Amino acid sequence: MGTNHKPSAEERLQQWIKPELLEASAYHVPDADGFIKLDAMENPYLLPDELRDKMLDVITGAEINRYPDPDASKLKQSLREIMDIPEDMAIILGNGSDELIQIIALAVAHSGKTIMAPQPGFVMYKIIADTIGARFIGVDLNRDDFSLDSEAMLSAINQYQPAVVFLAYPNNPTGNLFDENTISEIINAAPGLVVLDEAYSSFSEKSFMQRLGAFDNLLVMRTLSKSGLAGLRLGILIGPALWLDQLDKLRLPYNINTLSQKLAELILSRYDILQQQAAIIRSNRSKLFKQLQGIEGVSPWHSSANFILFKMTNTSADVISAALIEQGILIKNVSGDFPALKDCLRVTVGTVDENEAFIAALELAVSS
Ligand code: PMP
Repeated sequence: MGTNHKPSAEERLQQWIKPELLEASAYHVPDADGFIKLDAMENPYLLPDELRDKMLDVITGAEINRYPDPDASKLKQSLREIMDIPEDMAIILGNGSDELIQIIALAVAHSGKTIMAPQPGFVMYKIIADTIGARFIGVDLNRDDFSLDSEAMLSAINQYQPAVVFLAYPNNPTGNLFDENTISEIINAAPGLVVLDEAYSSFSEKSFMQRLGAFDNLLVMRTLSKSGLAGLRLGILIGPALWLDQLDKLRLPYNINTLSQKLAELILSRYDILQQQAAIIRSNRSKLFKQLQGIEGVSPWHSSANFILFKMTNTSADVISAALIEQGILIKNVSGDFPALKDCLRVTVGTVDENEAFIAALELAVSS
C-alpha cells in the first residue's frame, strides 16, 4: 500500500474495529408495531390508574437537571426488603440484567477465558462472550426434558475451567427449572463464578437467594423486566461484597437514571400489585398450556416461567410463525437458534384475550 493511499471507509473499519466484534452478531429485535406482542416475556398488564397518577407526580418532582443518586440507595433498600435479600450480601443494579451480564463477563473473561452455559439457553451469554473475545462453551441439555446433563456439565467444567457459568433458573427459552442438587454440584465444581439468573423467579417461586452464603462463588441475578417494569430497565445482582466490589468498578457511575430509580421506588411500594399480576399470569399460563396441548400437531413443554415453548410436530415452525405474523400475532421463532429446538416456537403468556387470539390464530394456521 503506497503512502498516498487513502483507505476506504470499509478498509478503515476492518482495520480498527476489533476482529471479534466484526465477527459477532447483534441481538435482533423485530418491529412489533400493530402486533399482539407475545415475543418478549413482558407483563401484559398496566398498573392501576391510582398508581399511574402518582407516577406523574414523581416525574414532575424529579430533579432531572441533577445527576441521579450514583448508588441508588433508596431503591436498593426497597429491593432488599421485597426480595428478601440477605443482610450480609451486596447489591449492584444494572440497566437491565443484560448490563449486569456484560459487567460480569468483562470482569472475569477475556481472550482465552471461557464463559459457559447450558444450551438451549439465553442467547445474550454467547453474544456478550463473542463481543469481548471470550470463548463461549454451550453444554447440551438432555434432549427430552431440557434437564441439566450433570455428567456433561461437570466434565465440561473440568475441561474448560470456565471463568463464569450462567444458569438461568427457570431457563429461557425452555421454561423449566433445573434440578437443585445438580446446580449445587455445579457450583461446587466450578473453579470461578456461578451466576444463577433468576429473571423468571416471580413465576416459579423458587430461588437460590437464601443459599448465597453457603457458596462463596455464587451470585444471584434478578430483573424487574418480567414483573412489569421492562421499560425502566432494572437488573439486580446480589452476592458477597468480596466479588461485587470488584465488579462495581466496571459499572458506569450513573447507570440507573433518576426516573427509573424514582418510579421503581414508587411502584415497589405497591409490590403487592406486581405479585397479583404475576399470579394472574401463572393462572393464564395453565390455561394456555392446556389449550396448546389440545391442538393437533402442537406439543408444549411445562413451564415455570411466563412463556411456553412448544414444538410443531407436523408442520414447520417457520410456516406457522409466518402465518401468525399474517394474523397480527408476534411470537418468537426459536427453531433456528439451536438444533434441539428445531420446529419450536416460544409464546409469552399474555392477557386472557391475547392468549385467545393467539390460540385462534394458531388453530387456523395449523388447519390451513
Ligand atoms: N436473563 C434471562 C434468562 C432472560 O431471558 C432475559 C431477557 N430475555 C434477561 C436475563 C435480560 O433481561 P433484562 O435485561 O430485561 O433485565
